Amino acid sequence: MISPQRPVQDALRERFREVRPVGLGLDSDLVRARMVERLRQQGVRDEQVLAAMLKIPRHAFVDSALANQAYEDTALPIGLGQTISKPSVVARMIELMCGGRAAPLSRVLEIGTGCGYQAAVLAQLARQVISVERLKPLHDRARELLAPLRLHNVRLVYGDGRLGHGPNAPYDGIIAAAGGDELPAAWLDQLAVGGRLVAPVVRGGGQVLVLVERTERGLVHTEHEAVHFVPLKSGTT
Ligand code: SAH
Repeated sequence: MISPQRPVQDALRERFREVRPVGLGLDSDLVRARMVERLRQQGVRDEQVLAAMLKIPRHAFVDSALANQAYEDTALPIGLGQTISKPSVVARMIELMCGGRAAPLSRVLEIGTGCGYQAAVLAQLARQVISVERLKPLHDRARELLAPLRLHNVRLVYGDGRLGHGPNAPYDGIIAAAGGDELPAAWLDQLAVGGRLVAPVVRGGGQVLVLVERTERGLVHTEHEAVHFVPLKSGTT
């Protein structure tokens, strides 16, 4: 019997083997190692975060026409007006969320799956990753792109991430890849004691990274550097 899905799955699996950043004449592992070296020079200190970024093939999450730019420190379009975040921002936010913990995080919630790249990086650092996306075509695409990596600890959810994801709460890490005027109450409610949330929030004419830690005595907010993320929108499409 002919299985129409088979060639598609095979093609996706091949993609990770065959797509190489072109124009540099280098193997993707080498180009990725250079990206990680630059992250180190830019001040990323958490070795576990660096190791996770070394492992995940960022080029496989972007259109093949953009694969030659996949290891530059730049955001790239992933369709529907959305972008894959730049590597230095992914590394910085995850480092901030981990807060220097040696032990792996147990459960992490990501808002804004996009193409699934950051979810794959998070999967190296947490026992379970729940990632929510409000745009169905991106949710579906992320599932396809993640399949060849066989990450059994990533759960993709189609829905409005402003509501968090109650069924798996509480989370000891929450990370948002889209920024709104304020932090949705559900995220704070779903943050475990000892948990850390990192998200872009609109301040003045721009956005800043906000870190919220839930301690035994309550929530502690700190504001960090300016960032530029796509807007956090409501509802699903
Ligand atoms: N983490 C992604 C970045 C994707 S860009 C990566 O590694 O590539 C941010 C994503 O947030 C977009 O796909 C956008 O559709 C999504 N988004 C915006 N508002 C959202 C919401 N309320 N719930 C879920 N996803 C949302």
